[in-house]
Amino acid sequence: VMFCAAMAQSFASIIRAGIVTVPLTEFEIIERFFAAPGPQRSDVCLGIGDDAAIMQVPAGHDLVSCVDMLVRGQHFPEDMAAEDVGYRAMAVNLSDMAAMGAEPAWATLALSLPEPDESWLAGFAEGLIGLAREHGVALVGGDTVKGPLAASVQMAGLVPSGTALRRDGAQPGDRLFVTGAPGEAAAGLALWQRGLRVPQGPAARLLRRFNRPQPRVAQGIDLRGIASACIDVSDGLAADLGHLVQASGIGAVIELESLPVSDELAEVADPMQARRYVLSGGDDYELWFAVPVRGLLDFERRARVWACAVTEIGEICESPGLFARVCGEIEPLEEGGFDHFR
Ligand code: ADP
Ligand code: MG
Repeated sequence: VMFCAAMAQSFASIIRAGIVTVPLTEFEIIERFFAAPGPQRSDVCLGIGDDAAIMQVPAGHDLVSCVDMLVRGQHFPEDMAAEDVGYRAMAVNLSDMAAMGAEPAWATLALSLPEPDESWLAGFAEGLIGLAREHGVALVGGDTVKGPLAASVQMAGLVPSGTALRRDGAQPGDRLFVTGAPGEAAAGLALWQRGLRVPQGPAARLLRRFNRPQPRVAQGIDLRGIASACIDVSDGLAADLGHLVQASGIGAVIELESLPVSDELAEVADPMQARRYVLSGGDDYELWFAVPVRGLLDFERRARVWACAVTEIGEICESPGLFARVCGEIEPLEEGGFDHFR
């Protein structure tokens, strides 16, 4: 009884001081932050609010599905802004859709939260739904639980039947390409880890590349019928391209001198270090893909209007494995990707 009385008294004083805000319920969180603001799609028959969502898959299409989990401290820095966490949770899945040549359509969100922090939730939803809106993706459901901070988006998209890009189609002689400026995000993360928060100049752009990676959705869709194999790089080129050559049962020769090194990257890293960022830095979400020689003209015509750069960086070879060509010599490419269990 004494204990309860003391509790009641201290509660009363807290309420008087205006400190207590009634925590949001699970229902209120869903209603306020996730149910209202997303884009509407006519192919969503039933969205948030029932036991499951119902969507219409158009005839003649394949459904492409992926999921990615982000755990605080493991997949994003502890003090990353809520907007950036929300953006990233959506972006990594859009990038998987891009790598498949799929048009992203619907997403669900599984969210684990230590406490219902309203301003964090508002920022997170802004980043997540803002990017979904840019790509016409409807948030159709999810799950909200109390626990360590983690967010997992599951996404589904569409391709005309049989046209999805895969990892296993590359053939010897196919040319290898990469979009954008790989390595910049890894350099940005390194700057962040050194404590840089509001940088100026080139560092600002690198940090933005880490915080706001641009999923190459339009490029992936354009590569349908053109690329023989495609991946997005999340764990570093050496690791991810390793998966591609393994799936295709072939090898790849990278022309080290052809690797694109952006001005910003060159400004914060010496040439050796810059190359290491390009080859082994994760978090870029650029596309690496192979194009058969017979499709090169068609490819170049399409890529001319892309909003991002594209660079030819090597070719597919018969011997399995990853190789580097430097000054005309071919040698095994050093491993350097990021493996979560290593
Ligand atoms: P159930 O118990 O039937 O699984 P919930 O009570 O968990 O349903 O969720 C109620 C509705 O809210 C469901 O339609 C679910 O998909 C949706 N939902 C729950 N959490 C989220 C979230 N974080 N984002 C979007 N929708 C959510
Ligand atoms: Mg239910």
